[in-house]
Amino acid sequence: MKERLTDRIKAMPKIDLHCHLDGSMTLESVERILGRRAGAEELQVRERCRDLAEYLDRFRLPLQCIQTEAGLRTAAREFLLDVAGENIRYIEVRFAPLSSVHEGLDCRKVVEAVLDGLREAEDRCRVAWNVIACAMRHHKKEDSLAMMKICREYLGNGLCAVDLAGDEASFPMKDFRDLFSEAGKLGIPFTIHAGECGRVENVLEAVACGAARIGHGIALKGHPRAQRICVDGRIGLELCPTSNLQTRAADKDGYPIREFLDAGLLVTLNTDNRTVSNTNMTGEMELVTQEYGITEEELLQLCRNAVEVSFAGDQVKHRLLSLF
Ligand SMILES: [Zn+2]
Repeated sequence: MKERLTDRIKAMPKIDLHCHLDGSMTLESVERILGRRAGAEELQVRERCRDLAEYLDRFRLPLQCIQTEAGLRTAAREFLLDVAGENIRYIEVRFAPLSSVHEGLDCRKVVEAVLDGLREAEDRCRVAWNVIACAMRHHKKEDSLAMMKICREYLGNGLCAVDLAGDEASFPMKDFRDLFSEAGKLGIPFTIHAGECGRVENVLEAVACGAARIGHGIALKGHPRAQRICVDGRIGLELCPTSNLQTRAADKDGYPIREFLDAGLLVTLNTDNRTVSNTNMTGEMELVTQEYGITEEELLQLCRNAVEVSFAGDQVKHRLLSLF
């Protein structure tokens, strides 16, 4: 019976809405770009990290790989071909364009290189995709705004949204109200990493700013009133269990997926960083069925939730919904 569920999970069509390109580069593309074989310990964390610093350290090498147009293109192409292998039908892949910008490479070229790579792979697999551009909390806000304006040009043409990522503990959400009110004026939808480490206020602030989705949102645990606000606003919650357990955003016994589902929240299941966390959607689905008693029907509900809160166009949504 157990094997049969595993087999069925493997065969299921899947959606991943929260997946970082740099944390999800295949070992092969890192090898191809760097010209040397990287050890797994350079790219992956152990089951439980010592701390967030250990987790973040595993992004050093991947970031080095995406400082050229060729590197960005290769990383994006190999990424999409890789996720096709576990029957992903739609993926929103995110990355921070400004982390690849330097004297020799401007933001527009960075974005186009990633879109080119994904388009190259698209002909060889049947994965629908969109890109989310992340603003980083530690970057200058005027640079992030300029990045968003460039990304606006690609909206509906490979790019679907923007995001806010990076060190949540050191930069309170209220400092980014202006930036996201500009995103709103530009007509770009957005998701925001919030409530990954602690404060439920960050989640509420992100929702008040107009975020359509929340990355992680673990801090909503035990806060029924805040949960109600998210339910009423049809806010999508992007849970990434393996990553959340590794970074100690939640402990294994207290992981709130069941609480969130019972509260009627629009929970989705995602990978965050496929390589750094050594996971994929198959692994996340197995984890929640084994550890948290999520049923097969609930897995389908998580997929339908993902369709509803995805930033895909209506046509793609309609096609995806027919899968579940
Ligand atoms: Zn993330």
